[in-house]
Amino acid sequence: MANARPLAPLPRDVGEDGYRVPGWQPSRRRRGPVGSTIHLAAPAPPDEQDAADPPPGSAPWRVFLAIVSVAGLAVLVLGVGAAAHSAHLLVHRPEPWLLLGLAVVAELRPVLAPAAARGAVVTTSTAFSFAALITFGLPVAVAVQALATVVSGVATRRVWWGVTFSLGQQALSLALAWRVLDLGHAAGYPAGAPAPTALDLAWVALAGLGYFLLAGGLRWVGIALRRHRPLPAVVAEEAGPQLAVHVILVGLAPLVAVVLSYRSALVALFLLPLLAVQGSAAGTLERRQRGRRDPLTGLASRQELSRRTEETLRVAGARGDTVALFLLDLDRFKEVNDTLGHRVGDRILRLTAARMERTLRPGDLVARLGGDEFAVLLPVVRDAEAAREIAARILAALEAPFTIGETPIHLEASIGIALHPQHAGDFERLLQRADVAMYLAKAEHTAIETYAVERDTNSRNRLGLLGALRRAVDHDELELHYQPKIRVSDGAVAGVEALVRWRHPTRGLVLPDEFVPLAEQSGLMPRLTDLVITAALSQLADWRRSGLRLPVAVNVSMRDLLDEGFAARLGSRLRRYSVPADLLCLEITERVLMADVATAADTLAELDALGVRISLDDFGTGYSSLVLLKRLPVREIKVDRSFVKRLGQADGAEEDTSIVRSIIDLGHSLGLTVVAEGVETEAALRRLHDLGCDRAQGWHVSPALPAAEATAWLTGRVSAGAPRAGAALG
Ligand code: C2E
Ligand code: CA
Ligand code: CA
Repeated sequence: MANARPLAPLPRDVGEDGYRVPGWQPSRRRRGPVGSTIHLAAPAPPDEQDAADPPPGSAPWRVFLAIVSVAGLAVLVLGVGAAAHSAHLLVHRPEPWLLLGLAVVAELRPVLAPAAARGAVVTTSTAFSFAALITFGLPVAVAVQALATVVSGVATRRVWWGVTFSLGQQALSLALAWRVLDLGHAAGYPAGAPAPTALDLAWVALAGLGYFLLAGGLRWVGIALRRHRPLPAVVAEEAGPQLAVHVILVGLAPLVAVVLSYRSALVALFLLPLLAVQGSAAGTLERRQRGRRDPLTGLASRQELSRRTEETLRVAGARGDTVALFLLDLDRFKEVNDTLGHRVGDRILRLTAARMERTLRPGDLVARLGGDEFAVLLPVVRDAEAAREIAARILAALEAPFTIGETPIHLEASIGIALHPQHAGDFERLLQRADVAMYLAKAEHTAIETYAVERDTNSRNRLGLLGALRRAVDHDELELHYQPKIRVSDGAVAGVEALVRWRHPTRGLVLPDEFVPLAEQSGLMPRLTDLVITAALSQLADWRRSGLRLPVAVNVSMRDLLDEGFAARLGSRLRRYSVPADLLCLEITERVLMADVATAADTLAELDALGVRISLDDFGTGYSSLVLLKRLPVREIKVDRSFVKRLGQADGAEEDTSIVRSIIDLGHSLGLTVVAEGVETEAALRRLHDLGCDRAQGWHVSPALPAAEATAWLTGRVSAGAPRAGAALG
């Protein structure tokens, strides 16, 4: 069965019922100019391509679709044909037209509220077609229902096979209901009794049940075939809520019939309760879907993925199928998010979701696990090789640039593959193995990796490191080193920057580049920042007691600025250590700050109100605008060390020099202090002096030192008296 996997991208934004699935921007149909024969426009970019028309899905599902459509259409044609002699009924009486009109309005509800279209076996029009069945018999009922379905199908741009399936499903179910009513002689009040008896109502209920079981049954079998899911699971999920709605609809049908026979125009009033029913049913459905869907992309949530994977594994175990789970991670997404903002990031995630879905078959499940992490469940796959091919197809679909506004954005992704039963037997372990494979794909730049036990150590190191970092935070293994900053004009000590280090029990001193990103990704950052700030403030208080009065700078991450309680906590820390706020400086990386300026700005304003200084770190590597620099309470900028490093070198430093010069001039014109970091040579320091830079920091002045050594360095420097500019520069 898995061998039949078609290679062409298939539309996936269409549900079993042929309605487009909500969750992302609906694709817009692109049409050539009317009447033109030559169409020169380039093909639509993949993000806007419309769903191709043939019904996607497995061969059994297509056969089933065809059988139901053809059988239903036969009932329709035969029924309406047999009623040809009573055509005068339709032409000369207003009631059938009234019912038709109401059925159409009821069916059109998806136009007004698209979410209501999802998962509906029964639409409100059922009440009117059922009333037509009771009053006029099968031909009129089938005609009413069919016309309503076709009109709404056209209006909602439903795919053709969805409409024919509905026509077939409804015609067959109405025919069954008619047989039941006929058995009980419970139809045709206008011709006979003026109102139904209790017995009639019992037959109507039975007919309604028959309708529900057949219409529902056909839909559920369809879903099971299309999504490769066990029928009982589908029924368990779908039957309950739909039965409730259906009972109300069929229950109203005899009332509609009665009103129709007395004062037919009053029937229109039934639209109100019916639309209310549909509305609340849609609401219920949406609530049920909420936990199952990722609100941003409309994909399955992690929870839903877990549920469906477990379900699939049970079936696959019995059948001996191979199941594949992919984990996909966008490679440079964070950068995009950081530089272009969250709104662009969100759009990219939605487009990624749509592209992935289009690449896969209907039976496959795509989920978003959070951030830029996606997962794909393939319920049946031939072997590891076939799984790789599918993964390659997904990557190929993501290769084309995302065009947002004017800028094309290229993103790459890595996929890790884990297979059942080869690699794991349950969801959690399968996901973990896929994760391991994904990290391997990233680390080795191979794009796709299939899990292999013997290569698992690499990622175990990473997981191990994260666990160890958690313990390090708890067990005081983190310590601060301090790197002095000096005044360029005269070499006087101007402060220190606190830099965190991890004294690992076996690996020795680990530098922040290795674990700060890890802390950021794993939610450990707030605790780490807390530790760093506490340690820095307590050191600052110590130095003040021994007569060293100098400012300390601490690095904070974006996470901290997004934390609403951050400024308040910092304020209470400052009071606890009795440290004046203006001795504390917070360094924020420019790139990080630009990612979510709005939220960060609030926190920055609070910090400024406390009196804390804000410094923009790594300046020149991000994209901050002058406007922002002026608007945010920034007091200092730090020229990124990549520009400072080559200053004063004989060749190739002209460009860096002019960059540094313009940053210094810019900073000064805005009234900011300019610090150059990464000063490694005497020549660089001289050049900075010439350029009028305020402060300097770097190995040439001093590397970052453990607390005791820093204290010695600082006291020595201060008691020796600030060397004059000439002395500092030799
Ligand atoms: P940063 O804030 O730009 O810190 C300056 C880095 O440059 C430090 O690396 C420092 O040791 C290094 N450096 C100092 N002088 C020179 C020099 O002359 N030449 C060169 N090439 N490098 C020099 P470190 O300590 O490894 O820190 C790396 C980054 O880790 C920091 O960059 C900062 O972004 C982050 N970081 C460090 N401590 C913390 C912390 O407590 N919290 C947070 N959130 N981030 C931290
Ligand atoms: Ca810094
Ligand atoms: Ca820096």
